[in-house]
Amino acid sequence: MNTITVNNLKKYYGKTKAVDGVSFEVKEGEIMGFLGPNGAGKTTAIRCMMDFLRPDEGEITILGEDAQRESSRLKQDIGFLSGDVKLYNHWTGQEHLDLIERMKGKTDYDLDLIAEFSFDPRKKVKELSSGNKQKLGLILALMHRPKLLILDEPTAGLDPLLQNTFYNTIRSGAVEGRTVFMSSHNLAEVEKVCDRVCIIKAGKLVAVESIKELKKKKIYTIYAYFQGDMPGSELQRDGVEITKKFTDGLVISVRGEIDPLLDELSKYKLTDIEITHASLEEVFMEYYK
Ligand code: ATP
Repeated sequence: MNTITVNNLKKYYGKTKAVDGVSFEVKEGEIMGFLGPNGAGKTTAIRCMMDFLRPDEGEITILGEDAQRESSRLKQDIGFLSGDVKLYNHWTGQEHLDLIERMKGKTDYDLDLIAEFSFDPRKKVKELSSGNKQKLGLILALMHRPKLLILDEPTAGLDPLLQNTFYNTIRSGAVEGRTVFMSSHNLAEVEKVCDRVCIIKAGKLVAVESIKELKKKKIYTIYAYFQGDMPGSELQRDGVEITKKFTDGLVISVRGEIDPLLDELSKYKLTDIEITHASLEEVFMEYYK
């Protein structure tokens, strides 16, 4: 079953097409990353999903219900973290936790989260660093073990140790069947924690792919050195490019399968060969360009 279905979502600000016909689905228990450069439309789409903004066109179904018509009820089942966490400066963390308990019912999970994130709930928000405000925002979103988490840049401002705590927390949530939809600029994070990713650019989705599939699109660079004759134009084919020539070697860029090229190279007397592949980051950059 789909936990989220977004169909042809459009939201324009005057001439700016912030979200321009975006469609995707998120399955139950899946961790979906929402990735894109600054101004791509991530926050606008998320705000439409949360009914903080009304779309110009399109339908959003969350947990089987219309995201606009049933928004108040749905908020009970969604743990939401905004990109700019809204907190009361003069309240302590504990007062925020108490407020959410009054709204959503008693829970003990907040105590586990406070321990996991080493958060001090006695401090007033105005005394907290930005990373600690982010921790509080996350605890407030997670503390009721919601069926669905919608998180706008959840790890912004968290140190690497706490980022890992967060990854483990949502991974174990996903194992229990909870669904996560999270925007991010952090490619390594998406690779580490997400099952699939939607890539958005200038309001349009440019890809919805599993992380496994994306990894297959890696670009290889081969440094090959020869004694005597070297191959030349016979290597050229789709996805293969000789990017540099030395007197005794070549640098070759290959997208996808490298076996056919290795077969060709083995016809010559190789003295050395080194194969490196691009990081997933470079694969993403191809989409961003
Ligand atoms: P970032 O990664 O920088 O947070 P984003 O992907 O979340 O960016 P949005 O904040 O959704 O992007 O913005 C998408 C586009 O809509 C941008 O061109 C932005 O300038 C524009 N935009 C966003 N909010 C408004 C608004 N209230 N009025 C006018 N234009 C807006």
